[in-house]
Amino acid sequence: MVESAYVALGSNLEQPQLQLQQAVAAINDTENISIVACSRLYRSDPVGPPGQPDYCNAVVAIDTSLEPLALLDALQAIENAHGRTRTLHWGPRTLDLDILLYGNWTIQSPRLTIPHAQMQLRNFVLCPLLDIAPDLVLANGQPLSALVEKLGYWGLSVIAEDYPWL
Ligand code: ATP
Ligand code: CA
Ligand code: CA
Repeated sequence: MVESAYVALGSNLEQPQLQLQQAVAAINDTENISIVACSRLYRSDPVGPPGQPDYCNAVVAIDTSLEPLALLDALQAIENAHGRTRTLHWGPRTLDLDILLYGNWTIQSPRLTIPHAQMQLRNFVLCPLLDIAPDLVLANGQPLSALVEKLGYWGLSVIAEDYPWL
């Protein structure tokens, strides 16, 4: 069975924009995942430990027949292939791939929380999501557009309307 899901991409090391373009291609090249839509590309102020470079962020819509944990495995393999190391919590990274939503599923397991636990607080996730899912209503009944209006575009700027996958 094929589900639609949304994946957030972030990078703030080693040519962040290129990392994201390559990650979109790698996601689409993964068996049983195809890219359906890509948000615009954003620059965002870093959160977490101070002194980090700015982030590049985007969100993609995918169709996948992978179960949620298999999808997480596939995305983590792509992170690792991009040289992701886990040192500082919320520290700088070459590539971060988070599953925001997986169909209408709710999951609370040691490896996976869906919807993503922090997504409602992060405009660098919600604004790109709005680009590709303008009519989305979150599980609590709140329209995504209302949430974006509340959070605003603070610390965020669009750096590309679209971009080639590499
Ligand atoms: P945050 O989750 O607050 O954005 P982070 O992305 O920096 O922080 P990571 O170090 O990338 O955190 O991931 C830590 C763990 O989070 C992963 O190993 C994974 O098992 C778990 N995780 C839980 N829910 C999700 C999800 N929806 N998408 C991706 N990883 C998740
Ligand atoms: Ca993250
Ligand atoms: Ca992550």
